[in-house]
Amino acid sequence: MAKEGFDYDVIIIGAGPAGTTMARILAGEGRDVLVVDKRKDIGSPVRCGEGLGEREVVAQDLDLPKEVISTDILGAKVVAPNGKSIVWKDKNTTGWVLERKMFDKWLAELAVHKGAEVHAYTRVVDLIKKDGKINGVTVEHSGKDAHEITAPLVVSAEGMEAHIARKAGFNTVHNLYDVDTCYQYEMQEYDHENLIELYFGNEIAPRGYVWIFPKKDKKANVGLGIGGNLTNWEKKGGVKGADPKVLLDNFIANQPQLKNASKLLHFGGIISVGAPLDRFVEDNFMVIGTAAKQVDPIHGGGIALAMESGLMAAKIANAAVLENNFSKQRLYEYEKIWRAGPGKKMEKRLMLRKVLEHLSDDDLNYIFNTITQNDLDKVMDGQFAGPVAKVVAGRPQLLGALKALA
Ligand SMILES: Cc1cc2nc3c(=O)[nH]c(=O)nc-3n(C[C@H](O)[C@H](O)[C@H](O)COP(=O)(O)OP(=O)(O)OC[C@H]3O[C@@H](n4cnc5c(N)ncnc54)[C@H](O)[C@@H]3O)c2cc1C
Repeated sequence: MAKEGFDYDVIIIGAGPAGTTMARILAGEGRDVLVVDKRKDIGSPVRCGEGLGEREVVAQDLDLPKEVISTDILGAKVVAPNGKSIVWKDKNTTGWVLERKMFDKWLAELAVHKGAEVHAYTRVVDLIKKDGKINGVTVEHSGKDAHEITAPLVVSAEGMEAHIARKAGFNTVHNLYDVDTCYQYEMQEYDHENLIELYFGNEIAPRGYVWIFPKKDKKANVGLGIGGNLTNWEKKGGVKGADPKVLLDNFIANQPQLKNASKLLHFGGIISVGAPLDRFVEDNFMVIGTAAKQVDPIHGGGIALAMESGLMAAKIANAAVLENNFSKQRLYEYEKIWRAGPGKKMEKRLMLRKVLEHLSDDDLNYIFNTITQNDLDKVMDGQFAGPVAKVVAGRPQLLGALKALA
């Protein structure tokens, strides 16, 4: 039963991994939770490379059913501009390429099994307030019939758009420097060794990379992301810039295995690679997952972070319901835990991203030639000093570019 005077204890906007993870935990604690998603079919259309490391799945004690997994991933092949590659197999690089549509639906079903209500094709169009405080949302079902639903706590798990979080006063606008613009094909046929492949180089993908994430039946997600500020948005205005689709087509044309492969699916997308929001909570309101810009600035991965955020937010929201205290001070506990944990790692990754974008292809070739898998592990864990010292010892002129990491 929801608190007296309300339809639900918590309303969550968005049935992506953040929203449905939060709903699963809250409903499991006996809270009355509603998740709404504007999509007609949860998980679809897919706009994602579908790569997921095993860390968060293990941490949340989830057992992925076979229909959500396309391929097991045993490691990563990282390729320098000159073609030299490092194969990197360890805890940082094992996981899966998902069938994301099935994965999102499965997470939603787990929440429903725990007692949450999940409604697709239901768009939140506004917040409602009572005595100046948020106490629910206005929704449109099937594009019509606007009506109000009340709860003392509303959560934005809206992903990149985050319109409702903006209405709640959060600065969810993205600047071009802090997003990557992406294009991806699903291609077939592609032979692989259960490795994700990442290709770097300023010619290939300025301030970004190409990914090949293998899927079952010799399919692969082949995509490219580049800095949003380098993208040619305004062709008519004569602004020179890059086009992720053109760059991806160039890359594919030079790959013997891909150049004649079929393209079964096309899509473009934008992902946040900057700093998270400067605050995640307000009285009666929380922002989680990609809506809070909680995305890895190096590779643009946000599924695991969304699930982690959903878990952290659920614990604090549960306590807030039990204590009937939805003040921003009470909800801030979630933000505090996030910033002390994943937030610290994200800070380091953002610093690394900003350093890497100043390196030439020649510098990247040198670095790939010098570092080992062990160094890559250290870098991904935010321990930069050892690998930086190694690189600078052989190429002192890189000290200026890398000193922020030392
Ligand atoms: C090209 C591309 C490739 C990517 N590849 C990867 C990858 O390989 N691995 C990885 O980890 N991450 C990847 N990401 C990022 C990843 O997709 C997101 O970070 C992740 O989906 C975030 O989960 P979320 O639950 O926070 O938000 P989302 O999954 O975006 O879910 C938000 C949901 O909210 C709903 N919604 C929004 N507004 C409203 C509203 N007003 N009313 C109702 N519903 C609403 C949306 O319909 C959506 O279903 C990629 C992103 C892009 C663009």
